[in-house]
Amino acid sequence: MIRIIVTFLLLSFLISCNPIDDEEVNEVSKRTYSWKMVTAWPPNSPINQESVEQFAKDVAIMSRGRLKIKVFAGGELVPPSQAFDAVSQGGVQMAHTASYYWAGKVPAAQFMTVVPFGLTHKGAWSWIYAGGGLALWQELYEPFGIVPFPMGNTGIQMGGWFNKKINSLDDLKGLKIRMPGLGGKVLAKAGANPVNIDPGELYMAVERGVIDATEWVGPVFDKRQGLDEVAKYYYFPGWHEPGSQLELIINRDAWKLLEPDLKLIVETAAAKASLDIFAQSELQNTAAFLEMQADNSIEILEFPESVLTELRRLTALVIEEEASADTDFSKIFEAYRAFEEDYQAYRSVTEIPYRKTFE
Ligand code: CA
Repeated sequence: MIRIIVTFLLLSFLISCNPIDDEEVNEVSKRTYSWKMVTAWPPNSPINQESVEQFAKDVAIMSRGRLKIKVFAGGELVPPSQAFDAVSQGGVQMAHTASYYWAGKVPAAQFMTVVPFGLTHKGAWSWIYAGGGLALWQELYEPFGIVPFPMGNTGIQMGGWFNKKINSLDDLKGLKIRMPGLGGKVLAKAGANPVNIDPGELYMAVERGVIDATEWVGPVFDKRQGLDEVAKYYYFPGWHEPGSQLELIINRDAWKLLEPDLKLIVETAAAKASLDIFAQSELQNTAAFLEMQADNSIEILEFPESVLTELRRLTALVIEEEASADTDFSKIFEAYRAFEEDYQAYRSVTEIPYRKTFE
């Protein structure tokens, strides 16, 4: 008897701790949706493209087939550079891409991917998922009829592929290099000529000398695009992308039609894909890096400290200039900076001293 009473009390306690608002629980609808989703990733791209395919499967399984998503790799339906417009106009309902590709249209969107010398994936996730970043992001895309969610992070990237050594900032002068986002603008300040080229075209661009150098992501991604075959020097660290957040963007009119459970299924599957992309990237980049280390045709080099110091100084200038030219950029920069300053204080007693134990 006592056991029954204790069990009853425990159950009552658990139920009272976890109240479910009936209004949030919709009846299971019979409506079905067939959506199209494009990505920015080349069809043979590892991890990102695979995780997006898995995301579509997860949504279909969790929704019991009510929301079916057909995935198209970069360029199969829409060129990667047009994914934002395609989602905004409703030609497709979803895309998986990176917000800094839209810098020309929405300069502040660059904060949602990455800031040179800024937060790594841990800080970026904390800011976006919990620290107010996502609300700013959703507000930023509101005028375009797009609802964004985070979906994946690349971790710290590599510095890129060069066919000449970079011993000083002068070596960057006149170099035609593929680098999107704020990193590209920093290189322009250093006298380089940054361009943005769709990922699927990088190999040809370097091979034919259309560009002198390029960055992409990290060892497994870069190797799959054949960049190790067209350039000799592989530089680190990826100062320009210390933890690039990828985005799931959804057409708002399509999103509004979804019942609450379907919306939650999409968000949950996107969060799972975030973990998949990050975990797989760290794992597979490590394996590909070890292969590259053993390959005598590639020289893996660290950017000199003096070059990184200068690039960091130029980054501050670029951010200041962009902030004075765009009110959204300025507003989001303030929020990002406030988070980063507080986080840095905490990192100074956690991650930073911990890392010193490796030295
Ligand atoms: Ca990159």
